Amino acid sequence: MTGKLYVLSGPSGVGKGTLRENALSSKKNLVYSISCTTRKPRNGETDGIEYRFITHEKFEEGIKQNLFLEYAHVHSDYYGTLKQDVINELNSGHNVLLEIDVQGALQVREKIPEAVLIFVAPPSVEVLEKRLRNRNTENEENLKLRLNNAIKELELKDKYDYIIINDDLETASKELNKLIND
Ligand code: 5GP
Repeated sequence: MTGKLYVLSGPSGVGKGTLRENALSSKKNLVYSISCTTRKPRNGETDGIEYRFITHEKFEEGIKQNLFLEYAHVHSDYYGTLKQDVINELNSGHNVLLEIDVQGALQVREKIPEAVLIFVAPPSVEVLEKRLRNRNTENEENLKLRLNNAIKELELKDKYDYIIINDDLETASKELNKLIND
């Protein structure tokens, strides 16, 4: 494998998506691995762009066939990274970025110890709640679920190689880009 693997995690609403977009537009050799999920597409999401949206049955078939580099049950749905996709990109010399949850990141660390693990944290849980509410993508029940998961994820941030506090987006973006090779 010649490319480098970067894993970006952090609670829902922390701004990972924007940081990821900024990194992808400024690093020519960086590709994003599109995850599979059983969650339903949100408004504006397209199959094959944000995620590959698949059924529970298909996902469980993939688990049985050992197709996933990592997978996890997050917020009551499955999410996972296809192994072959990542290996092909790394072998062709591309750096690969995964945006996955903590459970998945720790699985990647076991399988590919040289992967660089980066955690994006909010300045506080209160700020995170405010951002999630402003985003307006979740109902109250889902929002509570995401906040509870966020608190659990934050407890595991010390297992990462780097922690970026996303207080100011521009600063956080610069920090992330500094960690990623050109
Ligand atoms: P969302 O539903 O908001 O798009 O994502 C929910 C959570 O699932 C986020 O924390 C995201 O990083 C995580 N996630 C997305 N794709 C994957 C994946 O392939 N594997 C794992 N383990 N988590 C993922």
